[in-house]
Amino acid sequence: MEDIMKRDIIKINKEKCTGCGDCIPGCPEGALQVIDGKARLINDLFCDGLGACIGTCPQEAIEIEQREAVSYDEVNEMENIVKEGSNVIKAHLKHLDDHVQKDFLKQAIDFLIEKNIKIPDYESETVPGSCPGSMEMDLGEKPVSGQGAPVYSGELRNWPVQLQLLIQMHLI
Ligand code: SF4
Repeated sequence: MEDIMKRDIIKINKEKCTGCGDCIPGCPEGALQVIDGKARLINDLFCDGLGACIGTCPQEAIEIEQREAVSYDEVNEMENIVKEGSNVIKAHLKHLDDHVQKDFLKQAIDFLIEKNIKIPDYESETVPGSCPGSMEMDLGEKPVSGQGAPVYSGELRNWPVQLQLLIQMHLI
């Protein structure tokens, strides 16, 4: 018999949702699908309520609510996750690790060991579908022109060298 309890679970605002599907890869648990032009939580059982999908929605249509729902079951979840391949397993483990869900993480790893499935290296890489807050950010300069050699916007970076050259040219 299913265990019903009051817990955190995602809620999709149907007024805001455009059905773009950006949230689907953001949920490594596979709890979301776009059906009839709107994102849906297809099964309460698959949603761990940690909100990995929230930051993926450009419309801010996803939030967390507390309501009665079937309790999340890690072993049941892993049965589905392993069918999706190693990238999804990796994203799911990283998701649990990011949210310090040690008990679920242990259950997931025990499941993989029991089924003799390789445990991916979820700690040291950028993982597709991981939480936006944990993603690496490139704070370097970006090209501002797409033609020929890239032109970088940070001109100030070179000004001391340019100034020195100008001084030398005038002194010679
Ligand atoms: S990302 Fe947001 S707007 Fe797009 S389908 Fe998901 S909930 Fe709807």
